[in-house]
Amino acid sequence: MEEVEEIISELLMCRRCGLCRDPVDIEHGIDGACPVWKNSTGFETDFARGKIQIALALLQGKLELSPEVAKNLYRCTLCNNCGTICPAELEVSQLFEKVREFVSSKILVSEKHAAIVESIEKYGNPYLTPSDKRFEWLGEELSKMPTEAETVYFVGCTTSLRTPEIGKATMKILSSANVDFTILKDEWCCGSILLRIGFREKAVETAEKVVKAIENTGAKTVITSCAGCFRALKYDYPEILGDTSFEVLHTTQFLDKLLKEGKIELNTLPEHMKVTYHDPCHLGRHGLVYEEPRDVLKQISNLELVEMTPNRQFSLCCGAGGGLKLLEGELAVKIGSEKIKKVSGMKVDALVSACPFCKYNFVEAINKEKTNLKVYDVVELVAKTIK
Ligand code: SF4
Ligand code: SF4
Repeated sequence: MEEVEEIISELLMCRRCGLCRDPVDIEHGIDGACPVWKNSTGFETDFARGKIQIALALLQGKLELSPEVAKNLYRCTLCNNCGTICPAELEVSQLFEKVREFVSSKILVSEKHAAIVESIEKYGNPYLTPSDKRFEWLGEELSKMPTEAETVYFVGCTTSLRTPEIGKATMKILSSANVDFTILKDEWCCGSILLRIGFREKAVETAEKVVKAIENTGAKTVITSCAGCFRALKYDYPEILGDTSFEVLHTTQFLDKLLKEGKIELNTLPEHMKVTYHDPCHLGRHGLVYEEPRDVLKQISNLELVEMTPNRQFSLCCGAGGGLKLLEGELAVKIGSEKIKKVSGMKVDALVSACPFCKYNFVEAINKEKTNLKVYDVVELVAKTIK
């Protein structure tokens, strides 16, 4: 863990300007920042400026550390919209991860955190689901997967256990494009959730396991469905383990490449569909992947893509990330609902994302709002048009 003094000096860079609360600058595409503040009580502790003051007081020993106090630091999706807007150029989400690591090394903030750590250690997923259920959706296909391949499709816990339709669509596309790929039969959680909630040492253990399994296949490329897996494998693993022997791409980047190289041909969608695209935080703001998902969607004929405001680096979070869905599920869905209501007003047929965790939260929000809006992952729309 980074020295406490270093974390304190970073926290002290906050100018307390409050821009991270609810900035509006429509001309530059900014319409709000903190989804938690917007959907909570409106207290100072619900957005970055107040959380930074709590973190400082805790680290300087001026405030006693207790689960109640620490929970304020966990009421945050780590979306980093505040960090994008911050004039002091604070990397807020990374800073909060370090503070959470400090907190988790001292106290157990919630039994839910203990349950997640235990579930990953026991089953390799955070959903308390026995490992042999992970690839049930693959059926017979699982046994046909080779042990070595050029490319590994890292499916991820949420795709396998919550949105298997995304996994099925991805497999269909890869097979149709004759990609030499495999999946890891003993696939294990990427550890993203452990990093986000401050259990870095546990995350290192899981990262080592995942890297070893990928390297055993000899693959040079790994593709992920989940924006969280993408962030973990591409950016966190090299930082915690050093360089890895493979390139990491999100499915939308891989698909964009396949389309541009003419390796897949797409049919027209049977019916005209008007959609808008939601930028997942870990893919967009954290990974700077903005154009490839849009470029893929633009290749689908009979599909009309319209932009919501804000978008790209100022896009508002789906509400599920940073461990918020785990600790405060209702708040996560409330944040998702706010976006669903906004998108419903755009008179589109569907909201498209590129992350199973966003889809999972949006589906719950749609059920709550009782709207007819559909939610798809980019790969699902591509799979519908595969020749
Ligand atoms: S925008 Fe940056 S400097 Fe301003 S209050 Fe928020 S975190 Fe502090
Ligand atoms: S990272 Fe996102 S949720 Fe957390 S304080 Fe910043 S804007 Fe709010």
